[in-house]
Amino acid sequence: MRILKGIAASAGIGSGKAFLYVHEKPIVPRSGIHPSEAEAESARFSKARESVVRELATLDGPLLSTDQRKILETHQLMLEDPMVLDAVHHAIHVEHKCAEWAVETTMTSLITTIEQSQDQMFKERSADIYDIGWRIIRTLMGKLRPKISGLHEQIVLVADTLLPSEALSLDPEYVKAIALNGGGRTSHVAILARALQIPTVVGLGNITKKIQDGEHIIVDGNHGEVAIRPTSASAHRMQQQYKLWVAHEKELREVAQMDAITTDGHSVTLKANVETVEELESVLANGAQGIGLYRSEFLFLKPGGASEEEQFVAYRAVLEKMGKTKAVTIRTIDVGGDKVIPGMDAFGEENPILGWRAVRFCLSRKDIFKTQLKALLRSSVYGKLNIMFPMISGLEELNDVLEIFEEVKEECWKQGIPFDEDIEVGTMIEVPSAALCSDLLAPKVDFFSIGTNDLIQYTIAVDRGNEKIAYLYQPFHPGVLRLISTVINNAHEAKIPVGMCGEMAGDPLFSVLLLGLGLDEFSMSPQSLLEIKSIIRSVSIEDAQRLARKVMDMDSYKKSNTYVKEWMHERFGDFTTA
Ligand code: PEP
Ligand code: MG
Repeated sequence: MRILKGIAASAGIGSGKAFLYVHEKPIVPRSGIHPSEAEAESARFSKARESVVRELATLDGPLLSTDQRKILETHQLMLEDPMVLDAVHHAIHVEHKCAEWAVETTMTSLITTIEQSQDQMFKERSADIYDIGWRIIRTLMGKLRPKISGLHEQIVLVADTLLPSEALSLDPEYVKAIALNGGGRTSHVAILARALQIPTVVGLGNITKKIQDGEHIIVDGNHGEVAIRPTSASAHRMQQQYKLWVAHEKELREVAQMDAITTDGHSVTLKANVETVEELESVLANGAQGIGLYRSEFLFLKPGGASEEEQFVAYRAVLEKMGKTKAVTIRTIDVGGDKVIPGMDAFGEENPILGWRAVRFCLSRKDIFKTQLKALLRSSVYGKLNIMFPMISGLEELNDVLEIFEEVKEECWKQGIPFDEDIEVGTMIEVPSAALCSDLLAPKVDFFSIGTNDLIQYTIAVDRGNEKIAYLYQPFHPGVLRLISTVINNAHEAKIPVGMCGEMAGDPLFSVLLLGLGLDEFSMSPQSLLEIKSIIRSVSIEDAQRLARKVMDMDSYKKSNTYVKEWMHERFGDFTTA
Protein backbone atom coordinates (compact mmCIF):
# COMPACT_ATOMS: atom_id res chain seq x y z
CA MET A 1 0.00 0.00 0.00
CA ARG A 2 1.09 3.56 -0.56
CA ILE A 3 -0.50 6.72 0.86
CA LEU A 4 0.02 9.95 -1.06
CA LYS A 5 -0.77 13.42 0.26
CA GLY A 6 -2.08 16.09 -2.05
CA ILE A 7 -4.51 19.00 -1.93
CA ALA A 8 -8.15 18.29 -1.06
CA ALA A 9 -10.05 19.74 -4.03
CA SER A 10 -13.55 18.25 -3.98
CA ALA A 11 -15.16 16.62 -0.96
CA GLY A 12 -16.20 13.01 -0.66
CA ILE A 13 -14.50 9.68 -1.05
CA GLY A 14 -14.33 7.50 -4.13
CA SER A 15 -12.63 4.22 -4.85
CA GLY A 16 -12.20 1.77 -7.66
CA LYS A 17 -9.94 0.75 -10.49
CA ALA A 18 -7.43 3.38 -11.62
CA PHE A 19 -7.85 4.63 -15.16
CA LEU A 20 -4.60 6.26 -16.25
CA TYR A 21 -4.88 9.25 -18.53
CA VAL A 22 -1.57 10.81 -19.30
CA HIS A 23 -1.93 13.98 -21.07
CA GLU A 24 1.28 15.50 -22.17
CA LYS A 25 1.16 16.93 -25.63
CA PRO A 26 3.70 15.08 -27.77
CA ILE A 27 6.73 17.11 -28.76
CA VAL A 28 6.37 17.24 -32.50
CA PRO A 29 9.50 15.86 -34.19
CA ARG A 30 10.90 18.48 -36.50
CA SER A 31 13.18 16.38 -38.68
CA GLY A 32 14.11 17.25 -42.20
CA ILE A 33 13.95 14.44 -44.76
CA HIS A 34 15.91 13.54 -47.84
CA PRO A 35 13.94 14.19 -51.07
CA SER A 36 14.09 10.45 -51.79
CA GLU A 37 12.10 9.84 -48.57
CA ALA A 38 9.28 12.23 -49.53
CA GLU A 39 7.11 9.58 -51.18
CA ALA A 40 7.27 7.30 -48.15
CA GLU A 41 6.61 10.21 -45.81
CA SER A 42 3.59 11.25 -47.87
CA ALA A 43 2.31 7.69 -47.71
CA ARG A 44 2.77 7.68 -43.93
CA PHE A 45 0.71 10.87 -43.71
CA SER A 46 -2.04 9.39 -45.93
CA LYS A 47 -2.22 6.28 -43.77
CA ALA A 48 -2.53 8.36 -40.59
CA ARG A 49 -5.21 10.49 -42.24
CA GLU A 50 -7.19 7.38 -43.19
CA SER A 51 -6.91 6.06 -39.67
CA VAL A 52 -8.29 9.36 -38.32
CA VAL A 53 -11.15 9.14 -40.85
CA ARG A 54 -12.00 5.69 -39.43
CA GLU A 55 -11.61 6.93 -35.85
CA LEU A 56 -14.05 9.79 -36.49
CA ALA A 57 -16.57 7.41 -38.06
CA THR A 58 -16.67 5.48 -34.77
CA LEU A 59 -17.61 8.66 -32.91
CA ASP A 60 -20.83 9.01 -34.86
CA GLY A 61 -23.94 7.59 -33.24
CA PRO A 62 -27.49 8.35 -32.17
CA LEU A 63 -26.36 9.98 -28.92
CA LEU A 64 -24.65 12.85 -30.67
CA SER A 65 -26.39 16.20 -30.38
CA THR A 66 -26.98 18.23 -33.54
CA ASP A 67 -24.05 20.43 -32.58
CA GLN A 68 -21.72 17.54 -31.96
CA ARG A 69 -22.72 16.01 -35.29
CA LYS A 70 -22.06 19.35 -37.02
CA ILE A 71 -18.56 19.46 -35.56
CA LEU A 72 -17.88 15.87 -36.51
CA GLU A 73 -19.02 16.51 -40.08
CA THR A 74 -16.79 19.59 -40.30
CA HIS A 75 -13.83 17.50 -39.15
CA GLN A 76 -14.64 14.79 -41.68
CA LEU A 77 -14.88 17.36 -44.48
CA MET A 78 -11.61 18.89 -43.43
CA LEU A 79 -9.86 15.56 -43.80
CA GLU A 80 -10.97 15.56 -47.45
CA ASP A 81 -10.18 19.24 -48.08
CA PRO A 82 -7.73 19.42 -51.03
CA MET A 83 -6.35 22.73 -49.75
CA VAL A 84 -5.32 21.14 -46.44
CA LEU A 85 -4.00 17.93 -48.04
CA ASP A 86 -2.03 19.82 -50.70
CA ALA A 87 -0.44 22.02 -48.07
CA VAL A 88 0.80 18.99 -46.12
CA HIS A 89 2.14 17.25 -49.22
CA HIS A 90 3.81 20.52 -50.25
CA ALA A 91 5.58 20.77 -46.89
CA ILE A 92 6.83 17.19 -47.29
CA HIS A 93 7.86 17.29 -50.96
CA VAL A 94 9.06 20.89 -51.30
CA GLU A 95 10.10 21.91 -47.80
CA HIS A 96 11.37 18.40 -47.02
CA LYS A 97 9.74 18.14 -43.64
CA CYS A 98 8.79 14.89 -41.92
CA ALA A 99 5.05 14.18 -41.84
CA GLU A 100 4.44 15.33 -38.24
CA TRP A 101 6.25 18.61 -38.85
CA ALA A 102 4.43 19.09 -42.15
CA VAL A 103 1.05 18.71 -40.43
CA GLU A 104 2.06 21.11 -37.66
CA THR A 105 3.27 23.72 -40.18
CA THR A 106 0.08 23.44 -42.21
CA MET A 107 -2.11 23.64 -39.15
CA THR A 108 -0.35 26.74 -37.77
CA SER A 109 -0.33 28.61 -41.05
CA LEU A 110 -3.99 27.82 -41.79
CA ILE A 111 -5.01 29.00 -38.33
CA THR A 112 -3.05 32.23 -38.70
CA THR A 113 -4.69 32.98 -42.05
CA ILE A 114 -8.13 32.12 -40.79
CA GLU A 115 -7.80 34.29 -37.69
CA GLN A 116 -7.16 37.33 -39.90
CA SER A 117 -10.37 36.81 -41.82
CA GLN A 118 -13.43 39.00 -41.24
CA ASP A 119 -15.80 36.12 -41.80
CA GLN A 120 -16.99 34.72 -38.47
CA MET A 121 -18.02 31.34 -39.88
CA PHE A 122 -14.64 30.94 -41.48
CA LYS A 123 -12.85 31.96 -38.28
CA GLU A 124 -14.63 29.29 -36.32
CA ARG A 125 -12.89 26.68 -38.42
CA SER A 126 -9.58 27.33 -36.68
CA ALA A 127 -10.62 25.22 -33.72
CA ASP A 128 -11.49 22.36 -36.06
CA ILE A 129 -8.17 22.56 -37.85
CA TYR A 130 -6.40 22.49 -34.51
CA ASP A 131 -8.31 19.43 -33.33
CA ILE A 132 -7.81 17.51 -36.52
CA GLY A 133 -4.16 18.51 -36.80
CA TRP A 134 -3.38 17.14 -33.36
CA ARG A 135 -5.32 13.95 -34.01
CA ILE A 136 -3.19 13.27 -37.09
CA ILE A 137 0.07 14.16 -35.32
CA ARG A 138 -0.80 11.83 -32.43
CA THR A 139 -1.65 9.04 -34.85
CA LEU A 140 1.60 9.55 -36.73
CA MET A 141 3.51 9.35 -33.46
CA GLY A 142 1.52 6.36 -32.21
CA LYS A 143 0.51 8.32 -29.11
CA LEU A 144 -3.15 7.59 -28.69
CA ARG A 145 -4.85 8.70 -25.54
CA PRO A 146 -7.61 6.62 -23.98
CA LYS A 147 -11.05 8.23 -24.01
CA ILE A 148 -12.50 9.68 -20.82
CA SER A 149 -15.92 10.58 -22.12
CA GLY A 150 -18.46 7.88 -22.91
CA LEU A 151 -17.08 5.45 -20.28
CA HIS A 152 -19.04 2.27 -19.60
CA GLU A 153 -17.54 1.20 -16.30
CA GLN A 154 -16.82 2.87 -13.00
CA ILE A 155 -13.28 4.10 -12.63
CA VAL A 156 -11.05 6.45 -10.65
CA LEU A 157 -9.43 8.85 -13.06
CA VAL A 158 -5.69 9.27 -12.46
CA ALA A 159 -4.18 11.92 -14.71
CA ASP A 160 -1.31 14.35 -14.96
CA THR A 161 -3.72 17.21 -15.63
CA LEU A 162 -7.12 17.82 -17.19
CA LEU A 163 -8.25 20.58 -19.49
CA PRO A 164 -11.44 22.30 -18.32
CA SER A 165 -13.12 21.07 -21.52
CA GLU A 166 -12.16 17.50 -20.63
CA ALA A 167 -13.32 17.86 -17.04
CA LEU A 168 -16.63 19.16 -18.33
CA SER A 169 -17.12 15.98 -20.37
CA LEU A 170 -16.76 13.63 -17.36
CA ASP A 171 -19.76 11.60 -16.29
CA PRO A 172 -19.98 11.42 -12.46
CA GLU A 173 -21.92 8.17 -12.88
CA TYR A 174 -18.72 6.47 -14.05
CA VAL A 175 -15.92 8.67 -12.76
CA LYS A 176 -16.05 7.96 -9.03
CA ALA A 177 -13.02 10.08 -8.09
CA ILE A 178 -10.13 12.02 -9.59
CA ALA A 179 -6.46 12.11 -8.60
CA LEU A 180 -4.17 14.53 -10.44
CA ASN A 181 -0.43 15.15 -10.52
CA GLY A 182 -0.90 18.89 -10.87
CA GLY A 183 -3.36 21.62 -10.01
CA GLY A 184 -4.27 23.69 -6.98
CA ARG A 185 -7.53 24.10 -5.04
CA THR A 186 -8.53 27.07 -7.13
CA SER A 187 -7.51 25.68 -10.52
CA HIS A 188 -10.45 25.40 -12.87
CA VAL A 189 -10.32 21.64 -12.96
CA ALA A 190 -10.76 21.61 -9.16
CA ILE A 191 -13.65 24.06 -9.45
CA LEU A 192 -15.31 21.84 -12.07
CA ALA A 193 -14.77 18.69 -10.01
CA ARG A 194 -16.66 20.37 -7.18
CA ALA A 195 -19.39 21.39 -9.61
CA LEU A 196 -19.70 17.77 -10.75
CA GLN A 197 -19.45 16.56 -7.12
CA ILE A 198 -16.64 14.13 -7.93
CA PRO A 199 -14.28 13.55 -4.96
CA THR A 200 -10.91 14.91 -6.04
CA VAL A 201 -7.34 15.30 -4.83
CA VAL A 202 -4.95 17.46 -6.86
CA GLY A 203 -1.27 18.37 -6.55
CA LEU A 204 -0.13 14.77 -6.01
CA GLY A 205 3.22 15.24 -7.76
CA ASN A 206 3.64 12.20 -9.95
CA ILE A 207 0.90 9.77 -9.00
CA THR A 208 0.65 8.75 -12.66
CA LYS A 209 4.09 7.13 -12.25
CA LYS A 210 3.22 5.36 -9.00
CA ILE A 211 0.16 3.46 -10.10
CA GLN A 212 -0.64 1.04 -12.90
CA ASP A 213 -3.82 1.02 -14.93
CA GLY A 214 -6.46 -1.11 -13.16
CA GLU A 215 -4.91 -1.04 -9.66
CA HIS A 216 -7.18 -0.35 -6.69
CA ILE A 217 -7.16 3.21 -5.37
CA ILE A 218 -9.09 5.25 -2.79
CA VAL A 219 -9.33 9.03 -3.13
CA ASP A 220 -10.28 11.02 -0.04
CA GLY A 221 -11.27 14.49 -1.25
CA ASN A 222 -11.88 15.76 2.31
CA HIS A 223 -8.38 15.15 3.61
CA GLY A 224 -6.41 15.33 0.37
CA GLU A 225 -5.26 11.73 0.74
CA VAL A 226 -4.95 8.93 -1.77
CA ALA A 227 -4.32 5.25 -0.97
CA ILE A 228 -2.87 3.10 -3.73
CA ARG A 229 -3.42 -0.67 -3.33
CA PRO A 230 -4.95 0.02 0.12
CA THR A 231 -4.92 -2.53 2.95
CA SER A 232 -8.33 -3.34 4.36
CA ALA A 233 -7.44 -1.49 7.60
CA SER A 234 -6.74 1.78 5.83
CA ALA A 235 -9.77 1.40 3.59
CA HIS A 236 -11.83 0.94 6.75
CA ARG A 237 -10.29 4.03 8.42
CA MET A 238 -11.03 6.19 5.39
CA GLN A 239 -14.61 4.91 5.19
CA GLN A 240 -15.16 5.75 8.88
CA GLN A 241 -13.96 9.33 8.38
CA TYR A 242 -16.20 9.60 5.38
CA LYS A 243 -19.25 8.44 7.36
CA LEU A 244 -18.64 11.18 9.94
CA TRP A 245 -18.53 13.76 7.19
CA VAL A 246 -21.75 12.48 5.62
CA ALA A 247 -23.50 12.69 9.01
CA HIS A 248 -22.24 16.26 9.44
CA GLU A 249 -23.50 17.21 5.96
CA LYS A 250 -26.90 15.79 6.84
CA GLU A 251 -27.11 17.91 9.97
CA LEU A 252 -26.33 21.00 7.95
CA ARG A 253 -29.41 20.53 5.77
CA GLU A 254 -31.47 22.15 8.53
CA VAL A 255 -30.22 25.63 7.59
CA ALA A 256 -30.94 25.31 3.85
CA GLN A 257 -33.95 27.62 3.79
CA MET A 258 -32.91 29.89 6.67
CA ASP A 259 -31.43 33.39 6.34
CA ALA A 260 -27.72 34.07 6.48
CA ILE A 261 -27.90 36.28 9.54
CA THR A 262 -25.57 36.65 12.52
CA THR A 263 -26.73 36.19 16.13
CA ASP A 264 -26.95 39.99 16.45
CA GLY A 265 -28.99 40.52 13.29
CA HIS A 266 -26.42 41.41 10.61
CA SER A 267 -27.41 39.78 7.36
CA VAL A 268 -25.35 38.91 4.32
CA THR A 269 -26.25 37.35 0.99
CA LEU A 270 -25.15 33.85 0.02
CA LYS A 271 -25.09 32.95 -3.64
CA ALA A 272 -23.74 30.15 -5.79
CA ASN A 273 -21.08 29.88 -8.47
CA VAL A 274 -22.02 27.70 -11.42
CA GLU A 275 -20.51 26.54 -14.66
CA THR A 276 -23.42 24.60 -16.14
CA VAL A 277 -27.21 24.64 -16.08
CA GLU A 278 -27.19 21.12 -14.58
CA GLU A 279 -25.95 22.52 -11.26
CA LEU A 280 -29.07 24.59 -10.63
CA GLU A 281 -30.97 21.86 -8.78
CA SER A 282 -28.32 21.71 -6.09
CA VAL A 283 -28.08 25.52 -6.06
CA LEU A 284 -31.76 25.76 -5.16
CA ALA A 285 -31.74 22.78 -2.78
CA ASN A 286 -28.90 24.42 -0.84
CA GLY A 287 -30.85 27.65 -0.48
CA ALA A 288 -28.74 30.02 -2.60
CA GLN A 289 -30.18 33.54 -2.85
CA GLY A 290 -29.04 33.82 -6.44
CA ILE A 291 -26.11 33.09 -8.72
CA GLY A 292 -23.10 35.27 -7.88
CA LEU A 293 -20.98 33.92 -10.72
CA TYR A 294 -22.01 32.08 -13.85
CA ARG A 295 -18.77 31.27 -15.70
CA SER A 296 -20.09 31.77 -19.23
CA GLU A 297 -16.80 30.76 -20.86
CA PHE A 298 -17.59 27.09 -20.33
CA LEU A 299 -20.08 27.43 -23.18
CA PHE A 300 -17.13 28.27 -25.44
CA LEU A 301 -14.74 25.49 -24.53
CA LYS A 302 -15.97 23.22 -27.27
CA PRO A 303 -14.72 23.55 -30.81
CA GLY A 304 -16.74 26.16 -32.70
CA GLY A 305 -17.58 28.20 -29.60
CA ALA A 306 -21.19 29.16 -28.91
CA SER A 307 -23.45 31.05 -31.32
CA GLU A 308 -25.66 33.93 -30.15
CA GLU A 309 -28.64 31.61 -30.20
CA GLU A 310 -26.92 28.87 -28.17
CA GLN A 311 -25.84 31.44 -25.62
CA PHE A 312 -29.30 32.98 -25.45
CA VAL A 313 -30.85 29.56 -24.80
CA ALA A 314 -28.35 28.82 -22.02
CA TYR A 315 -28.69 32.23 -20.30
CA ARG A 316 -32.46 32.16 -20.55
CA ALA A 317 -32.57 28.67 -19.00
CA VAL A 318 -30.58 29.83 -15.97
CA LEU A 319 -32.60 33.02 -15.55
CA GLU A 320 -35.93 31.23 -15.82
CA LYS A 321 -34.89 28.54 -13.40
CA MET A 322 -33.81 31.11 -10.79
CA GLY A 323 -36.90 33.29 -11.25
CA LYS A 324 -37.38 37.03 -10.96
CA THR A 325 -36.33 37.32 -7.32
CA LYS A 326 -33.03 35.46 -7.41
CA ALA A 327 -30.56 37.53 -9.40
CA VAL A 328 -28.13 35.77 -11.73
CA THR A 329 -24.75 37.39 -12.32
CA ILE A 330 -23.39 36.24 -15.64
CA ARG A 331 -19.74 36.94 -16.13
CA THR A 332 -18.71 37.74 -19.68
CA ILE A 333 -16.36 35.30 -21.34
CA ASP A 334 -13.14 34.73 -19.37
CA VAL A 335 -11.06 32.55 -21.66
CA GLY A 336 -7.30 32.36 -21.67
CA GLY A 337 -4.98 31.40 -18.84
CA ASP A 338 -5.85 27.79 -18.12
CA LYS A 339 -9.21 28.07 -19.94
CA VAL A 340 -7.97 27.74 -23.45
CA ILE A 341 -10.62 27.54 -26.13
CA PRO A 342 -9.75 25.13 -28.92
CA GLY A 343 -7.32 26.78 -31.31
CA MET A 344 -6.31 29.51 -28.87
CA ASP A 345 -3.07 27.91 -27.69
CA ALA A 346 -1.96 27.56 -31.30
CA PHE A 347 -0.61 31.07 -30.83
CA GLY A 348 1.80 29.80 -28.22
CA GLU A 349 1.71 32.68 -25.74
CA GLU A 350 4.77 32.51 -23.53
CA ASN A 351 2.89 33.66 -20.48
CA PRO A 352 -0.81 32.96 -20.91
CA ILE A 353 -1.73 33.72 -17.28
CA LEU A 354 -0.50 37.28 -17.81
CA GLY A 355 -1.60 37.35 -21.39
CA TRP A 356 -4.56 37.43 -23.69
CA ARG A 357 -7.30 36.72 -21.17
CA ALA A 358 -10.85 37.73 -20.32
CA VAL A 359 -11.68 41.36 -21.21
CA ARG A 360 -8.35 41.66 -23.01
CA PHE A 361 -9.52 38.91 -25.32
CA CYS A 362 -12.99 40.49 -25.60
CA LEU A 363 -11.66 43.95 -26.43
CA SER A 364 -9.61 42.53 -29.29
CA ARG A 365 -12.41 40.21 -30.42
CA LYS A 366 -15.29 42.68 -30.30
CA ASP A 367 -17.30 40.43 -32.62
CA ILE A 368 -17.40 37.68 -29.98
CA PHE A 369 -17.91 40.16 -27.14
CA LYS A 370 -20.78 42.02 -28.79
CA THR A 371 -22.49 38.77 -29.74
CA GLN A 372 -22.35 37.71 -26.11
CA LEU A 373 -23.67 41.03 -24.83
CA LYS A 374 -26.54 40.84 -27.29
CA ALA A 375 -27.41 37.31 -26.18
CA LEU A 376 -27.30 38.52 -22.58
CA LEU A 377 -29.56 41.50 -23.27
CA ARG A 378 -32.04 39.30 -25.12
CA SER A 379 -32.16 36.88 -22.20
CA SER A 380 -32.52 39.62 -19.57
CA VAL A 381 -36.33 39.75 -19.83
CA TYR A 382 -36.59 36.17 -18.50
CA GLY A 383 -35.33 36.80 -14.96
CA LYS A 384 -33.12 39.17 -13.00
CA LEU A 385 -29.82 39.50 -14.80
CA ASN A 386 -26.62 41.18 -13.61
CA ILE A 387 -23.60 41.38 -15.88
CA MET A 388 -20.03 41.28 -14.64
CA PHE A 389 -16.68 41.79 -16.37
CA PRO A 390 -13.59 39.71 -15.53
CA MET A 391 -9.93 40.78 -15.22
CA ILE A 392 -10.52 44.53 -15.36
CA SER A 393 -7.16 46.11 -14.55
CA GLY A 394 -8.05 49.80 -14.50
CA LEU A 395 -10.37 52.58 -15.47
CA GLU A 396 -9.56 52.69 -19.21
CA GLU A 397 -10.42 49.05 -19.67
CA LEU A 398 -13.63 49.40 -17.67
CA ASN A 399 -14.64 52.48 -19.71
CA ASP A 400 -13.97 50.63 -22.98
CA VAL A 401 -16.06 47.69 -21.91
CA LEU A 402 -18.92 49.88 -20.69
CA GLU A 403 -18.86 51.82 -23.95
CA ILE A 404 -19.23 48.63 -25.96
CA PHE A 405 -22.09 47.58 -23.69
CA GLU A 406 -23.84 50.89 -24.44
CA GLU A 407 -23.30 50.35 -28.18
CA VAL A 408 -24.92 46.92 -28.01
CA LYS A 409 -27.85 48.32 -26.03
CA GLU A 410 -28.24 50.99 -28.70
CA GLU A 411 -28.28 48.31 -31.42
CA CYS A 412 -30.95 46.39 -29.53
CA TRP A 413 -33.07 49.52 -29.16
CA LYS A 414 -32.79 50.18 -32.88
CA GLN A 415 -33.71 46.61 -33.73
CA GLY A 416 -36.65 46.68 -31.33
CA ILE A 417 -35.21 43.88 -29.17
CA PRO A 418 -36.66 44.15 -25.67
CA PHE A 419 -34.32 43.95 -22.68
CA ASP A 420 -34.27 44.85 -19.02
CA GLU A 421 -33.25 48.51 -18.73
CA ASP A 422 -32.24 48.03 -15.09
CA ILE A 423 -29.56 45.42 -15.52
CA GLU A 424 -26.93 45.92 -12.86
CA VAL A 425 -23.39 45.96 -14.12
CA GLY A 426 -20.41 45.07 -11.98
CA THR A 427 -16.76 44.34 -12.25
CA MET A 428 -14.65 41.62 -10.80
CA ILE A 429 -11.75 42.79 -8.73
CA GLU A 430 -9.09 40.18 -9.31
CA VAL A 431 -6.10 42.15 -10.54
CA PRO A 432 -4.10 43.98 -7.85
CA SER A 433 -4.14 47.25 -9.83
CA ALA A 434 -7.94 47.14 -9.87
CA ALA A 435 -8.03 46.53 -6.13
CA LEU A 436 -5.69 49.44 -5.50
CA CYS A 437 -7.75 51.69 -7.79
CA SER A 438 -11.11 50.39 -6.61
CA ASP A 439 -12.04 53.91 -5.45
CA LEU A 440 -11.77 55.01 -9.10
CA LEU A 441 -13.76 52.06 -10.43
CA ALA A 442 -16.56 52.07 -7.86
CA PRO A 443 -18.49 55.12 -9.19
CA LYS A 444 -18.73 53.44 -12.61
CA VAL A 445 -20.47 50.23 -11.57
CA ASP A 446 -23.34 48.87 -9.48
CA PHE A 447 -21.30 46.25 -7.60
CA PHE A 448 -17.90 44.68 -7.09
CA SER A 449 -17.12 40.99 -6.86
CA ILE A 450 -13.70 40.03 -5.55
CA GLY A 451 -12.11 37.16 -7.46
CA THR A 452 -9.62 35.90 -4.93
CA ASN A 453 -8.49 32.96 -7.05
CA ASP A 454 -6.76 35.35 -9.40
CA LEU A 455 -6.23 38.18 -6.93
CA ILE A 456 -4.05 35.90 -4.78
CA GLN A 457 -2.29 34.52 -7.83
CA TYR A 458 -1.37 37.97 -9.12
CA THR A 459 -0.65 39.58 -5.75
CA ILE A 460 1.79 36.91 -4.58
CA ALA A 461 2.92 36.05 -8.12
CA VAL A 462 2.05 32.38 -7.57
CA ASP A 463 0.46 30.33 -10.36
CA ARG A 464 -2.81 29.05 -8.88
CA GLY A 465 -2.52 25.75 -10.76
CA ASN A 466 1.08 24.90 -9.95
CA GLU A 467 1.39 22.33 -7.17
CA LYS A 468 5.12 22.99 -6.70
CA ILE A 469 4.50 26.44 -5.29
CA ALA A 470 1.06 25.80 -3.80
CA TYR A 471 2.54 26.47 -0.33
CA LEU A 472 2.89 30.14 -1.37
CA TYR A 473 -0.76 30.46 -2.34
CA GLN A 474 -1.84 32.06 0.95
CA PRO A 475 -5.17 33.88 1.31
CA PHE A 476 -3.95 34.99 4.77
CA HIS A 477 -1.00 36.86 3.27
CA PRO A 478 -1.20 40.41 4.70
CA GLY A 479 -0.81 41.75 1.16
CA VAL A 480 -3.93 39.89 0.06
CA LEU A 481 -5.96 40.81 3.15
CA ARG A 482 -5.04 44.48 2.81
CA LEU A 483 -6.23 44.50 -0.78
CA ILE A 484 -9.50 42.79 0.14
CA SER A 485 -10.08 45.27 2.94
CA THR A 486 -9.28 48.21 0.63
CA VAL A 487 -11.80 46.98 -1.94
CA ILE A 488 -14.53 46.52 0.67
CA ASN A 489 -13.94 49.97 2.15
CA ASN A 490 -13.85 51.68 -1.25
CA ALA A 491 -17.06 49.96 -2.32
CA HIS A 492 -18.81 51.03 0.86
CA GLU A 493 -17.50 54.56 0.51
CA ALA A 494 -19.15 54.65 -2.94
CA LYS A 495 -22.27 52.98 -1.51
CA ILE A 496 -22.12 49.91 -3.70
CA PRO A 497 -22.28 46.32 -2.44
CA VAL A 498 -19.21 44.14 -2.55
CA GLY A 499 -19.21 40.39 -2.94
CA MET A 500 -16.61 37.70 -3.32
CA CYS A 501 -16.84 34.86 -5.80
CA GLY A 502 -13.34 33.42 -5.45
CA GLU A 503 -12.97 30.11 -3.64
CA MET A 504 -12.01 31.92 -0.44
CA ALA A 505 -15.68 32.89 -0.01
CA GLY A 506 -16.67 29.22 0.22
CA ASP A 507 -13.87 28.13 2.53
CA PRO A 508 -15.22 27.91 6.10
CA LEU A 509 -11.87 28.95 7.52
CA PHE A 510 -12.26 32.49 6.16
CA SER A 511 -15.98 33.11 6.60
CA VAL A 512 -15.90 34.91 9.97
CA LEU A 513 -12.88 36.97 8.96
CA LEU A 514 -14.58 38.09 5.73
CA LEU A 515 -17.77 38.86 7.61
CA GLY A 516 -15.75 41.00 10.01
CA LEU A 517 -14.04 42.81 7.14
CA GLY A 518 -17.50 43.86 5.92
CA LEU A 519 -18.14 41.60 2.92
CA ASP A 520 -21.80 41.87 1.81
CA GLU A 521 -22.12 38.85 -0.43
CA PHE A 522 -20.46 35.43 -0.48
CA SER A 523 -20.69 33.38 -3.67
CA MET A 524 -19.40 29.82 -3.75
CA SER A 525 -19.77 26.31 -5.02
CA PRO A 526 -23.31 25.11 -4.11
CA GLN A 527 -21.87 22.36 -1.88
CA SER A 528 -20.29 24.94 0.45
CA LEU A 529 -23.42 27.03 1.07
CA LEU A 530 -24.78 25.17 4.08
CA GLU A 531 -21.51 25.04 5.99
CA ILE A 532 -20.88 28.76 5.47
CA LYS A 533 -24.43 29.68 6.42
CA SER A 534 -24.36 27.66 9.59
CA ILE A 535 -21.12 29.41 10.63
CA ILE A 536 -22.53 32.87 9.89
CA ARG A 537 -25.66 32.04 11.89
CA SER A 538 -23.57 31.11 14.93
CA VAL A 539 -21.43 34.23 15.34
CA SER A 540 -22.07 37.88 16.10
CA ILE A 541 -20.89 40.65 13.80
CA GLU A 542 -19.11 42.18 16.78
CA ASP A 543 -17.02 39.06 17.33
CA ALA A 544 -16.32 38.83 13.62
CA GLN A 545 -15.14 42.45 13.51
CA ARG A 546 -12.92 41.85 16.54
CA LEU A 547 -11.37 38.84 14.82
CA ALA A 548 -10.82 40.86 11.64
CA ARG A 549 -9.13 43.72 13.52
CA LYS A 550 -6.82 41.27 15.25
CA VAL A 551 -5.86 39.53 12.00
CA MET A 552 -5.30 42.80 10.12
CA ASP A 553 -2.72 43.71 12.76
CA MET A 554 -0.71 40.54 12.19
CA ASP A 555 2.46 40.64 10.15
CA SER A 556 2.56 37.13 8.68
CA TYR A 557 0.23 34.63 7.10
CA LYS A 558 1.54 31.93 9.40
CA LYS A 559 0.43 33.84 12.49
CA SER A 560 -3.00 34.68 11.02
CA ASN A 561 -3.47 31.13 9.83
CA THR A 562 -2.71 29.62 13.24
CA TYR A 563 -4.77 32.22 15.07
CA VAL A 564 -7.87 31.90 12.88
CA LYS A 565 -7.63 28.10 12.79
CA GLU A 566 -7.63 27.95 16.56
CA TRP A 567 -10.44 30.51 16.80
CA MET A 568 -12.60 28.55 14.37
CA HIS A 569 -11.68 25.18 15.86
CA GLU A 570 -12.75 26.26 19.34
CA ARG A 571 -16.17 27.28 18.08
CA PHE A 572 -16.89 24.93 15.21
CA GLY A 573 -14.72 21.84 15.65
CA ASP A 574 -12.84 19.88 13.01
CA PHE A 575 -14.90 20.41 9.91
CA THR A 576 -13.93 24.03 9.37
CA THR A 577 -10.24 23.55 9.84
CA ALA A 578 -9.38 20.31 8.03
C1 PEP B 1 -11.47 34.30 -9.36
O1 PEP B 1 -10.46 34.57 -10.02
O2 PEP B 1 -11.51 34.35 -8.12
C2 PEP B 1 -12.70 33.88 -10.05
C3 PEP B 1 -13.83 33.71 -9.39
O3 PEP B 1 -12.65 33.63 -11.38
P1 PEP B 1 -12.00 32.33 -12.03
O4 PEP B 1 -11.77 31.33 -10.92
O5 PEP B 1 -12.94 31.79 -13.05
O6 PEP B 1 -10.74 32.84 -12.62
MG1 MG C 1 -10.60 34.90 -12.12
